[in-house]
Parts: sequence; C-alpha cells; structure tokens
Amino acid sequence: MLRNVSAPNRLVLVIVMAVLPMLGLTVYGAFEQRAYAEAEATGHLRLLVQLAARHHQQVVEGARDTLAAVAQLAAALPHDPAVCHAHFAEMLEHSGSKFHNMGVIAPSGETFCNGLGTAATGSMRDRLYLRLVRQTRQFSIGDYQVGRSSRRAGLNFGFPIMKNGALAGVAFLALDLDEFHASVAALPLPPQGVLILLDANGTIVARQPPDEGRVGIKVRSPTVHAALMAPGPGLFEGPGADGVTRIFASEPVVNNSDGSVALKVSISVPKALVFQHADAELARDLAGILVATVLLIVVGRYSAERFVLRHIRTLLETARRVSSGDLTARTGMRPRNEELSQIGGALDDMAAALQERDAQLQHAMGRLVHQATSDALTGLGNRRHLQQHLPLELARAKRRGEPFALIVVDADHFKRLNDTFGHDAGDLALKEIAGTLKDNIRASDLAWRYGGEEFVVLLNNAGLPGARERAELMRAALARLDLRHQGRCLGSVTASLGVAVFPDHGSDVETLIRAADAALYQAKAAGRNRVVVYSAEAPAEAAVTAAGAREEPARATVLDELERQRPL
Ligand code: GH3
Ligand code: MG
Ligand code: MG
Repeated sequence: MLRNVSAPNRLVLVIVMAVLPMLGLTVYGAFEQRAYAEAEATGHLRLLVQLAARHHQQVVEGARDTLAAVAQLAAALPHDPAVCHAHFAEMLEHSGSKFHNMGVIAPSGETFCNGLGTAATGSMRDRLYLRLVRQTRQFSIGDYQVGRSSRRAGLNFGFPIMKNGALAGVAFLALDLDEFHASVAALPLPPQGVLILLDANGTIVARQPPDEGRVGIKVRSPTVHAALMAPGPGLFEGPGADGVTRIFASEPVVNNSDGSVALKVSISVPKALVFQHADAELARDLAGILVATVLLIVVGRYSAERFVLRHIRTLLETARRVSSGDLTARTGMRPRNEELSQIGGALDDMAAALQERDAQLQHAMGRLVHQATSDALTGLGNRRHLQQHLPLELARAKRRGEPFALIVVDADHFKRLNDTFGHDAGDLALKEIAGTLKDNIRASDLAWRYGGEEFVVLLNNAGLPGARERAELMRAALARLDLRHQGRCLGSVTASLGVAVFPDHGSDVETLIRAADAALYQAKAAGRNRVVVYSAEAPAEAAVTAAGAREEPARATVLDELERQRPL
C-alpha cells in the first residue's frame, strides 16, 4: 500500500498512526470524564432538590399548624359573621404580609367570614382545597390562585372545623408566595441553576432566582411538563424556558389529603455547563495532540531531509553518474559513525578505485594502439596507420580546399647493402633514413614506413612546386648520409622518390598513390637517386623501357601492396 508513497509522506503517515492511539485514549478519557461529570452533577442536583423539598415542606407544615389553630379558634367562636370577621381581621393584621387572607367557609361553600371583611365573595366550591377538605375531612392544599378578596397571588390551604363528628365549616388560609421564595433563598444553587415550585396543575408557584414573569404560568415544554407531573422523584433532560437543554431533577414536596402530589419542586442546570469542564479539557488535550503532531511532522520531515534524504539523494546521484561513466563523481561525504556517510565513503573509494583502474586501462590501450599502428624499428607510423589516416587527411584537405602531396620513397639497392654489410647494418640504415625523412618535414606533415625499405610521406598544404622542392631536399639529405656500422663505413644510401599532388593528380587515395607509385617507378627506371613528379604524359611503361637499359627491372610497387590490402 505504501509502495508508491514518498519517504517524507511515509514518515507523516507513521507519525499520524503513532498518534492515533493517544488520540483514542484522550477521546475515551473525555467520555469517561463527561460521564463522571454528569453523575456528579445529577447527584448534586438530587441532593439539592431534596433539600429544597424539605424547606418547602416546612413552609407547608407551618401553614398547617397555623390553620389547625385557626380552625380550633373558629369552632369556639359564636356563630356570628361580624364577630368572626373582626376576629380574623385582627389575626390577619398581626400576621404581617405572611398571609393574604384567612377565614371560614360554610360547608355549603359560601364564605362565612374572612380577615379582609369582604363577606359575599361568592361560592368557593370550585376551590381545590375546599373540595378536598369536604371530601377527606383533612388538611388540604389548594393550587396557585389569585385571591377573590385579596386580589393577590398565593396558595390556599383548608382545614376542617368539626362539630359533633360533622363538618361545621372549613378554615382557610391564603399563604403569600414569598414564603416559598424565602425558604429556598439561601439554597446554594449551581451556576445558571433554576429552581421552580409547581402546584398540582403544574403551574409555577415560585421560582429561584426570582422572576415574576415566570410565576403563575405553566412550564412551556409539554415533555418537560409531563415529566415534572409524573409522581415520585424524577431525573431527565429537556428544553428549559430559555430553549437551552437542561438536566432536571424533581422531588415531590408534599402529598395532598387524597394522596396526590400537591407540590413538586425541580432544579435544573444547563447540560452544556455540566460538561463544560470535561469539554474544555478535551479541547485542550486535542489541541495539545494536534500541536505535538504538527511539531513531530515538521521536526521529523526536517530531520529526515537534513540527516537522511539529502544524503540518499547525493548517494543516488553519484551512483548514477558513476554508472553512466563519470568516474570523477564523488559524494564528498565524510565518513562518520552513522551508516549513510560510511556508505558515501565506500562509494567514493569505489569510484576512485574504478577511476584508477580506468586510467590504467586507457594507458594500456593507448600503448596497444600505438604498438599496433607504429613501426617498432623506426618509430614511424606503420602501414595500418597509413591506411587509417590517409582517407582522413584527404577528407580534411577537401574540406579546407587545400592541396597536399604524397611522396613514395624507396631505398635504392637496399638488398645489396644488406647482403654486403649484414641485416643489422640494414636496420641501422633504415632508422637513419626514417630520421632524415622526419627531419625534413614539418610537424604538420606525416611520414610512414610502409614496409621493408619503402616509406610514404604526406606534405600538408603543399602544391606541385613546393612538393618537388621538398622531395628534392629529402633526396639530397639522404644522399649525404655517411652511415657507419661497427666502425665500418656503409657508403652512401640513396633513394628514389615518386611525387603525386592532390588535386592535380587525383582526388581519391587510390589514384593518388597509384600516381606517386608510377612516378617512383619512373625514378627507378630513370637511374634511381632522383625525384620524379607524376606526369600523365610520361606513362610508366615508357619509363621502364627507358630505365631498363641501364638498371635492374622494375620492382613490386606500393600500389601493388595496397591493392593486396584493400580496402584502404
Ligand atoms: P631497388 O633499388 O630496385 O629498390 O632494389 P632493392 O634491392 O632496394 O629492392 P628489393 O625489393 O629487391 O629489395 C629490398 C630489400 O630490402 C630486401 C630486404 O632484404 C631488404 N629489407 C626489407 N626489410 C628489411 C628490414 O627490415 N631490415 C633490413 N635490414 N633489410 C630489409
Ligand atoms: Mg629498394
Ligand atoms: Mg623496395
């Protein structure tokens, strides 16, 4: 899978894969912490809501005790509404703002008397507390209501007034809602925590922190309302009045005389707040991992480039250059302790050894080529060299539009010299002839020993007159040689020279040699020790005839030999 991925990207993948388990652990840890935070928050909410329920319970119990005393008193009063009014008015006055009203309701549901002195306020039969007291003959709790007489919002309670085992009336008490507020004011609510006290209908009776706009109405969300109205303690999630998802804990405060829940308290906190700490920690850990990963990647890539990839590229480049024949290529890496520089050093040593071997080989090959193309006795180029070079020289002359001369030199009566003084003396003579020829040509000219006592000279950029002149100089120099071998005088060595000139006498190698050879033939025939320039008007046949009278017959020519060696 990773085969086509570059080394730096592979490194990034490895780092990311190494970081993954850490990432997994962090996320898992965050989930655990969230669960722990939720458990802690819900546990705290439960305790708090139980505490609030206890406080509210005490308020209800206080109302019950007061109402029990009121009922006892009412039973003892004469059956006179005016007396009753006055009595309750006085009691109400002494109670401060704690109660909105108090009084007695006849068993029929009509108000008998109350502390506010407003007698005919109609039937109270529809009031929950009255219905329950009539039904159960027990202390009962009403629901949120705005008093008909007091016009103030509160919660009413009822208590039976019994006479001879029958219900003689119902004492009632309208409790100011501030009593509930005050009872939980000191409760340490969590941040953004909201406490609500609900009556049996689900109407909000009290709220902490106080917010009058939200009292006397029902909980907006039907799901939350339904969950709050369920009997028993509750723990659930739902939208709060502000639309934010909250965790709710609810607890019944007190049951009514018929066994139903009369008041229920709930405390809620925003869910996000519960996980705030865990989420912040997760965000911090993730940011840490991200920064560490990026740092690792940056440092890893830099280190890989600085300490590995750069060297690998140098090694590769050097190996490529060496394999393509550049043996001067070196990595230039100084061998240290780490492996790459040691490989670099080894590669450099290998390239140096190859370069040395190559130099030796070149040298040996040069020697071989020299041996193959030079004459061992005279040091001049041999016949092979002539065959290789003559076409090149001709091509060059053609390219430059320059003339050149070809001179065939053949020692006269050399066989005789050999026979008289021996082969060694002949060799010495051949070396001297070669030296004399070389001495009489320019550095740009060439001289070959073609074979035996025959030589060929090429005069670059030489026309007819110049070539004849130079050939004559050579001939004269050879004739002047005073050869000695082992103290014996060998006498003079002469030579005959045939001259042909490009482009006058031919424009290809073969024609030119044929012409020079023909001229040499004429020189031999004419008496030797002379220079003859090729002339088409003086054919070789005629010359032979002319020379034949005075000299030995004509010899095997250079041309014959060249023809035998074809192709040139
Ligand atoms: P001409 O004037 O007609 O050229 O007569 P020539 O005797 O020079 O010619 P010929 O071809 O008859 O003889 C050439 C001689 O050159 C024969 C051989 O003994 C001699 N020779 C050829 N190569 C060598 C060599 O390497 N060393 C010696 N010492 N003699 C050689
Ligand atoms: Mg000869
Ligand atoms: Mg000869």
